Amino acid sequence: NTLSDHKEVTPEVLNAAILDADNKVFATYSISEAHNINFTKGFVKGQQTKFVDKRLLVYKPIVNNGEMLGTICLRVELSELSTIIKTQNTIALILLIVGVALAFLLALIMQRYISTRLLSLVNFMNHVGTTGNYKNHFVSGGRDEISTLSTVFNNLLDQITESQQRKDEFIGIASHELKTPLTSIKAYLQVLEKREQDDRNKLYVQKALENAKKLENLIYDLLDVSKIQSGQLVLNMTEVDIDALIDETIAAFQIIAKQHKIIRDGVQLNTTITADKQRIEQVLINLLSNATKYSPEAKKVIVSLTKTAKEIIIKVQDFGIGIAKEEQSKVFNRFYRVKEMSGHISGFGLGLYICNDIITRHHGTIRIESETGNTNFFVSLPLMAGKVYEIENKIVSIPGAL
Ligand code: ADP
Repeated sequence: NTLSDHKEVTPEVLNAAILDADNKVFATYSISEAHNINFTKGFVKGQQTKFVDKRLLVYKPIVNNGEMLGTICLRVELSELSTIIKTQNTIALILLIVGVALAFLLALIMQRYISTRLLSLVNFMNHVGTTGNYKNHFVSGGRDEISTLSTVFNNLLDQITESQQRKDEFIGIASHELKTPLTSIKAYLQVLEKREQDDRNKLYVQKALENAKKLENLIYDLLDVSKIQSGQLVLNMTEVDIDALIDETIAAFQIIAKQHKIIRDGVQLNTTITADKQRIEQVLINLLSNATKYSPEAKKVIVSLTKTAKEIIIKVQDFGIGIAKEEQSKVFNRFYRVKEMSGHISGFGLGLYICNDIITRHHGTIRIESETGNTNFFVSLPLMAGKVYEIENKIVSIPGAL
């Protein structure tokens, strides 16, 4: 009876038995569907548990006042347990998936937040790298590592700006100091060239004069850079016959360009623009000088002039080494030279920087189209350039000019 009582309370007990002190079966119980089993087989006295045919056998000694009276044996069905384990596994799996999904979502949000700020810092760094404008600062927001990084970067920009200022000051002072003695050297050489009778000595003096002129050009470039930096490059605007300006400049340049034929292409515009004649001439000479310098194998350079409703466009075309796409915006930075292409050709990387500044002050643009073997520089000058300039500088006010 005692054993059958189990049926109500614990239906997972399939068999039960009580063994006496000699391990003989005293009483047994079996749930109806289950087969009878022999609990005494392989049993040694004492407490035991073992798995047989995926079921659990439990032997528990019956002890009274220290005396062993017998053993209770149970054979228990484990399917309930495995159902519980399965359910718990499923719950654990669901929790795991939800946890991983949540962690992934959180990581995604954090990564978006961090990478958006990091990317904008990287973009800003790239922008600074390509434009060479070190005066702006990056505003990051927040108080994390990214903001520390941007503070460090901003400090670096400050240091670069400061050292550039010192360099500009030095360039300004040095070129001023060099100009005076060089002018005197040039003057003496010119006198010497005229007086010298000996052909050989005359040639030496001419060579010295040529180099003094090169030095003078460099000093004037450095002085221009100084003026641009300190905002002192002022334009002297007059009415300029653009056809005549181009023809005269080409003629003057042709004298020194021994290897190249400078060809004037296109129609005569018969137009005047308000511009600084000397400065536009300087731009043109610079572009022609580059066109011949960077096309050592070529024989010609073509200059053409066109006009639209709003602007005139000067195009200088050469058939030289070309400028790679990624370099085209950089060559307008000061002291920038395309390394692998122009390493063996002398220059300081100042010409295009000055040209760009002069043309921008005329409210025009200068741009490049180039591939290997062909470079085109386009200088656009608005027909209203002079009027815009005058109004901006409050020299005169022309009603309706804009
Ligand atoms: P510089 O000629 O004194 O180096 P510039 O400012 O005039 O300085 O030119 C900057 C750089 O642009 C040059 O060093 C050269 O690498 C490149 N460049 C300019 N014009 C040309 C051209 N017509 N063809 C090829 N490269 C050019």
